[in-house]
Amino acid sequence: MSSPNDKQTTQRDFSPAETISRRDFLNGMAVTLAGGVLMHSNAVIALDSDPTVADDLAVASDLTNTLAQSYYPPTRTGMRGSHKGSFEVAHALAWRGEKPSQVQDLDEEYDLVVVGGGISGLACAYLYQQQAGAGKKVLILDNHDDFGGHAKRNEFNVDGRTLLGFGGSINLEQDYFSDNVHTLLKDLGVDLEALENAVDSDFVLANSSGDLGYFLNAQTYGSNRILHDPWRQIWLAQGDYGEAVKTLGLAASQQEKLLALISGERDLLDDLSLLKKRKYLSTTDYASFLGERAGLEASTIALFEPIMLAIYGCGAECLSVAEALALGSPGLKSLGWIGSFANSLLSGSAADIRTPMFPDGNASIARLLVRKLIPTVADGDSMHDIAAAQFDYAKLDQATNQNRIRLNSTAVNCVHSDNGERVQVTYVTADEAYRINAKHCILACYNALIPHLCPELPEAQKRQLGYGSKTPLVYCNVLVRNGAALDRAPTTQCACPDSFFALVSKAPPVRLGTYNGTNAGGDQRLLFMNHVPTPRAETGQNIKDVYRLARHSLYTTPFATFETEIKQQLNAMFGAYGFDADRDIAAITVNRWSHGYAYEYMDLHDPEWPKGQAPHEIARARKGRISIANSDSEAHAYLHAAIDAAWRAVGEQVRLS
Ligand SMILES: Cc1cc2nc3c(=O)[nH]c(=O)nc-3n(C[C@H](O)[C@H](O)[C@H](O)COP(=O)(O)OP(=O)(O)OC[C@H]3O[C@@H](n4cnc5c(N)ncnc54)[C@H](O)[C@@H]3O)c2cc1C
Repeated sequence: MSSPNDKQTTQRDFSPAETISRRDFLNGMAVTLAGGVLMHSNAVIALDSDPTVADDLAVASDLTNTLAQSYYPPTRTGMRGSHKGSFEVAHALAWRGEKPSQVQDLDEEYDLVVVGGGISGLACAYLYQQQAGAGKKVLILDNHDDFGGHAKRNEFNVDGRTLLGFGGSINLEQDYFSDNVHTLLKDLGVDLEALENAVDSDFVLANSSGDLGYFLNAQTYGSNRILHDPWRQIWLAQGDYGEAVKTLGLAASQQEKLLALISGERDLLDDLSLLKKRKYLSTTDYASFLGERAGLEASTIALFEPIMLAIYGCGAECLSVAEALALGSPGLKSLGWIGSFANSLLSGSAADIRTPMFPDGNASIARLLVRKLIPTVADGDSMHDIAAAQFDYAKLDQATNQNRIRLNSTAVNCVHSDNGERVQVTYVTADEAYRINAKHCILACYNALIPHLCPELPEAQKRQLGYGSKTPLVYCNVLVRNGAALDRAPTTQCACPDSFFALVSKAPPVRLGTYNGTNAGGDQRLLFMNHVPTPRAETGQNIKDVYRLARHSLYTTPFATFETEIKQQLNAMFGAYGFDADRDIAAITVNRWSHGYAYEYMDLHDPEWPKGQAPHEIARARKGRISIANSDSEAHAYLHAAIDAAWRAVGEQVRLS
């Protein structure tokens, strides 16, 4: 299997084995279709209830931000992810070049300062402690009120029961782990096989043979209904796909054309030579292929888009035919004998892909790392107790710690001092700026911000740091008081074409240690809803610009809009089974990831580069005592890329010592 980053370094051949290796977290699903706050059960929906950061900080006499003992961000509802208070300082820096005019020097000296407390930054701290020798002092700065970066959890405590959902990063793409990733996870006590067995086998986000239905809405498909069929197999022409396609209720001519596409009645590219065919697949967008060659209309094409939105954050007009087919979208059999062969390979390989997960997704990996770094933060010592472990955030940034995690702190300047022997890092917390010193610094934050943080980087490197654009995404968790209506529906795991939320599913049904996330009777439920704000791209528009537009619209979308859309969609989906959003929804958490997945190169939007010359490879060059980690630096939007980046960046700095 080719390495994940082969695209920019080698000429690409279209083969299922290669294409399936890209952007395939949520992989199972992709190939399937293709402490806190005690809440009474009749508590009202939490509106945009972010407490201001200042409410939770007790600024200690050493001027660092010691957190109050009651501080417990995972239970906060309302607008989370990129929450109020987390982004203003960075935006002032990036948009207007604003840096604080007054900075207070703190008498703090570290061996390593890490900017960014996501998986990459936490892994940097852990690996540095392993590799740099005993007695090292490390500080991690993060602008959010919680650690973990994208790997955060949403926690709901209701009527004595805890329900966990993922606030971002979901599952472990074990098939693509490097030895380094395996080593780190083993150190953390992660047993992938035990995790696989801890989740219900029908859960589509963890198992490719899991269950994913369709919700078809009245506006586009005539009536609101949930269809429950094995759609992955259907799109790949397995089983009785003819009967299943009839249940979609498409116009007769669309049904006929869709069936012809699936069954491969004829080679839709029979006017092209093999070489031209290959080029067509990587240079033509899937929507054009389906429209022009297969005769499908927009509403039929939309059936395949929820998976594209979830994985690439864009629709069929932005993906090459090859990229779309690799997600399990239909059409392979209509590409002649090579396509039929690829279809049989894809059907076989896609059947049983397991992507294990914790009940709170990859937040558990962040929590395992934090507990290793600061053992006093929580009891326990294994992956089995991590979901239920109570974390004491007041322990994160104590002066006696070897490793400190300072939340609500945005780094604004990282420069060498003392003839290059040290790095000075300036950060802002609660409107005050502080300066600290370090022997080494790793920027495990976002590529696009680094040029503003590090003015001393070469201009060519700064340009490449700005090349990509992160994919904006919204993950919502909705607490439902009573699951009886949901139980009456054919399934609660649905792809939702042409709806505000492209995917809806139950929260991870994982049993781990004392935590039990599986459903029981009419109990409370947590529903996951995925919204992708990306607008339709205009012809020829580069995806990076489309993501930027989406990000700006996301910032101006208030919580109330999400609340309204959630209610409307859940009523449309489950109203027929007795669901009433006004009565049944107890709480909503909207995880707004304006800077979501790391940018990955795409067929239609990026050229090929010689090895070593791709933007992310130039962008991540070490500058003296400053190295760059984060999944952006791997041009790969996965937890394992964030860990690989940490190994590289720590190695660079340890070799300097
Ligand atoms: C919604 C979503 C779902 C995902 N699902 C999966 C999945 O299922 N499986 C998978 O493998 N991957 C998934 N990913 C990819 C995810 O990005 C990686 O898993 C990984 O968590 C990235 O870690 P990171 O540390 O590189 O970056 P991040 O998680 O982004 O962490 C970087 C941190 O640095 C902070 N920061 C930035 N600038 C500054 C500054 N100036 N000062 C201080 N702090 C700063 C950021 O705010 C952030 O907290 C998902 C991503 C998203 C957004």
